[in-house]
Amino acid sequence: MSKVDPIMTRDIVAIDGPAGAGKSTVARKVADRLGYAFLDTGAMYRAATWLALESGVDMNDGDALAAITRSMELDLREEDGRQQVMVGGKDISHAIRTPEVTRQISTLDHNPNVRAHLVALQQSIGARRPTVAEGRDIGTVVFPHAACKIYLDASLEERTRRRALEFEKKGIAFDPTKLMEDIRQRDLRDMSRSVGPLRKADDAVLVETDGLTPDEVVELIVRLARDRA
Ligand code: C5P
Repeated sequence: MSKVDPIMTRDIVAIDGPAGAGKSTVARKVADRLGYAFLDTGAMYRAATWLALESGVDMNDGDALAAITRSMELDLREEDGRQQVMVGGKDISHAIRTPEVTRQISTLDHNPNVRAHLVALQQSIGARRPTVAEGRDIGTVVFPHAACKIYLDASLEERTRRRALEFEKKGIAFDPTKLMEDIRQRDLRDMSRSVGPLRKADDAVLVETDGLTPDEVVELIVRLARDRA
């Protein structure tokens, strides 16, 4: 795994937290306010999963999953403040958000070789310019020397409510009880894997977002980031 000089991570804001805590929305706005790039690392695990499914790789074969991840021609672009995800020249920004991809990520997100490759990639992206990076292991593994680390959290009920609103907006049918259970299961898996588990870095600031609007959370993080830069 590449080691990034701590100096290089001075301009990094690391945001971790469980599914549905609002990381992407908040991280994107914080990046915009600070004039930093935005890096959604979950999209990289999604892209690798999409490519493995698309290529017909045996999802039980860890070596094949690592090989396909290493071979992935990934290009992350910023388009109207959104992260566009391209693989092999194809725009897969929407394709990586399907329930099938979300379900299958768990077959590769605990693979040490897959993680080592994606972490190195994230470190080299972050070394290029000031970045707000969000994910599960940003403050603990990817940028342990980030100037500002945030652990964004919200109750399971609140996170389920937010996801339900998103689905309603997109016209996607869902079962509310199953939705809450899916999020709970994803939390458990994210927190219990042996490599890169989701956990708050010791020096991260815990931000509980129940009862806060996204703009209030953004304001808080921008202030913290400016204090620590
Ligand atoms: O953030 P998002 O929901 O898109 O992440 C999808 C999945 O990717 C997570 O549930 C987790 O399994 C994996 N992931 C990860 N490490 C990260 C970011 C995401 O393992 N840094």
